[in-house]
Amino acid sequence: MQATLNGNELVLNGEINENTNFEGTIPNNLPNPCILNLSGIQKINSTGVKFWIGYWEKQVASGLKLQFKDASTAIVEQFNMVKSFLCGGDIISFAAPFICNGCNSEWSPIFEVKDVKDGSFPKIKCPKCGSDENEIDEIEEEYLAFLTR
Ligand SMILES: [Zn+2]
Repeated sequence: MQATLNGNELVLNGEINENTNFEGTIPNNLPNPCILNLSGIQKINSTGVKFWIGYWEKQVASGLKLQFKDASTAIVEQFNMVKSFLCGGDIISFAAPFICNGCNSEWSPIFEVKDVKDGSFPKIKCPKCGSDENEIDEIEEEYLAFLTR
């Protein structure tokens, strides 16, 4: 995992697993609230999840507020599976795997949580063919389960 501070955002990239050293990778001078930009996290395994929770719970206990931005599909999976993954933070926006019925393109648009509050995605246009006949390539209700937590 790589970590880069960009203003009030901490941009995380790569994989989170047993080789990830949070203490050694994340800078000490985190802004508060700290926006975690998670669009670049491709994979996180169960040990990575344990490390993640251990590290952020400690930060939150000492007063840090977390906000999750542009969470990748790998991260959304954890929002849905692991209750304590958020460590008390708020989700601002997240990616969802979409497929176009017009041209079969697959892409991962970013949605703001406030735009899916009613449990369904707003109409969007395919970036390739412009069709709005597209849908999430997962079970919508399951993918959005974290919203009702
Ligand atoms: Zn299309």
